[in-house]
Amino acid sequence: MRNIFVLSLSIVTIAILSLNSFAQTDKVQIIRGQLVCVQIDKTGQASVSKEFTECAGLLYLLGVDGDLYSLHGSEEEMKEIKQNSKSRMGYRLPLRLKGKTVGHQRAWQLYTPSLELEENSIKTTVTGTLLCVFPNQKEGSVNPKIADGPCNEAEPHAHFIQTDEGEIYALHGTLDDIVSLEKNPKRVDVTLTGILRANESGWILYVN
Ligand SMILES: [Zn+2]
Repeated sequence: MRNIFVLSLSIVTIAILSLNSFAQTDKVQIIRGQLVCVQIDKTGQASVSKEFTECAGLLYLLGVDGDLYSLHGSEEEMKEIKQNSKSRMGYRLPLRLKGKTVGHQRAWQLYTPSLELEENSIKTTVTGTLLCVFPNQKEGSVNPKIADGPCNEAEPHAHFIQTDEGEIYALHGTLDDIVSLEKNPKRVDVTLTGILRANESGWILYVN
């Protein structure tokens, strides 16, 4: 099963690399950074927490290298990561997370080593509000916000879409697909089509 997964991952890698600057490494590496939880509160607003034991939304790792990753992992690994994320004596040391990085500067993902994403190629449509997630290196945090217009000129950042039901989906895709999404000034009532992948650590929509 695992071999099949690795094989299909390699095929996907080759296909993706030949298309765009969408880099994927099968090699497990260590990424250092601060862990942040972004979830939707009772009023429907995106709220950010640096101190948490549970996260009902998306987890982001703000890398000390300056890159922002949406983090996805198996239930067991994520539990351990969240426990290690607590501050000690009021100070939060950057975490050292093991994983595989996928994507590019405008949409990095970090997968923990044992994560096996559901195989799924069914196209799904998601309608909602598009939010930009800007890294805030000074605070060791992120700022999720609805942009006033195109955001492709802004510093590299991540995105998610929030439905009226309060579900959130991390957005990933090729650089071209992400940039075309960023160029669209429409941010509310946006309909995106892509392939949906889910696991215990949140939904991912691969836009195309
Ligand atoms: Zn944006």
